[in-house]
Amino acid sequence: MAASSSSSSLLPQTLKVGIVGFGAFGQFLAKTMIKQGHTIRATSRTDHSRLCHQLGVPFYRDTLSFLEADNDVILISTSILSLSEVLRAMPLHCLKRRTLFVDVLSVKEHPRNVLLQVLPDVMDVLCTHPMFGPESGKNGWKDLPFVYEKVRVRDEPRCSSFLQIFESEGCRMVEMSCEEHDKLAARSQFLSHAIGRILSEMGIESTSMNTKSFETLVKLKESTTNDSFDLFSGLFIHNRFAQQELMNLEHSFEMVKQRLRRGTSEEQNLSKDKGACYYWLQWHAEMIQTKWKTKVGGDLQRYGGCDEWTVVETCKNMKVVVSEQLVMVEACIHMDEESVPVVVKVEVYDGVVNLEISEETVVVMLHICKVYRWLPRL
Ligand code: NAP
Repeated sequence: MAASSSSSSLLPQTLKVGIVGFGAFGQFLAKTMIKQGHTIRATSRTDHSRLCHQLGVPFYRDTLSFLEADNDVILISTSILSLSEVLRAMPLHCLKRRTLFVDVLSVKEHPRNVLLQVLPDVMDVLCTHPMFGPESGKNGWKDLPFVYEKVRVRDEPRCSSFLQIFESEGCRMVEMSCEEHDKLAARSQFLSHAIGRILSEMGIESTSMNTKSFETLVKLKESTTNDSFDLFSGLFIHNRFAQQELMNLEHSFEMVKQRLRRGTSEEQNLSKDKGACYYWLQWHAEMIQTKWKTKVGGDLQRYGGCDEWTVVETCKNMKVVVSEQLVMVEACIHMDEESVPVVVKVEVYDGVVNLEISEETVVVMLHICKVYRWLPRL
């Protein structure tokens, strides 16, 4: 990740920008571009011609005429969920000139992949995420982050002129790979949206005795629910890192509940603690599975619908000892053609889990999750 300046030594050009998807965000961006003197034209699923007329923007119902309208840049501002369908329905082969395609979707790997798949090779591709919206950017864009990756850019001056739209408004320009963006955004953006939606489900409303923290919660609920559910859903479905964050959220919620219950009850219910422990192991199993895939490439399979995991890369000579308070696994695992002996011990004493495990023992850990189910009352 790097904060950067995209200015070229040449003066920025005035651009002809065709916007695909003239919803809330497309309109919001168009207003600033018009103010800066760029020429805008638009196409969208819904007929926005009346609004476009007020803005002095030609609106094309027909995508063929839109593509033939001699655009320097085609800006994609359609919903994350509809991107693929929208692009595949466009007669892109009719483009007469090399055009810069820019997307502004709130996830980045997905549009990058789709654009590279559907566009002719001669088209330039810039993937961006202005990390603000009609609400947070209503008083200007100064210091608001603008993330981008030049995925395939041959016409540098044109790309710089486009980036200049945001730079000249004072945005903080951040050049970053689409993958890195999605990793960070799953933690920040998806998580805030998820919590905002949960608060909305709970129906929280401002009261006459709000604390500052409660006001923050109400604002979070309002700002996230102002965005469409399609956007939230897209953040989850098309960001491969979001699933993990959702699991982290669930796990942490479970842990907080467990702690609260322990705090309110003197009676340490062992079976509940075991439940927590099992949950904890399950959570780790999910993380381990991801690690295992990237590190060793072995395939782990989930038995349909249940919580057990099995390892296709085998553990040899595995010995499992299970008692009321202890699960011990001695095994020999094969990694990179080496045989690594490991012992993994999980002890449960009055709800305290002692786990000895090292990086190499990931496979065994999965087996623990499995055998732990054999313990009485679990
Ligand atoms: P959105 O609900 O994500 O997208 C609305 C746009 O998608 C509208 O132009 C709509 O077209 C189009 N659309 C939705 N479903 C469609 C379908 N099945 N077929 C064709 N077009 C369809 O809301 P948004 O806030 O305007 O966001 C637009 C894009 O900007 C999204 O990709 C979002 O991730 C990104 N973005 C939004 C923000 C923000 O703060 N809102 C910030 C940064 C980036 P019609 O209007 O013609 O119906």
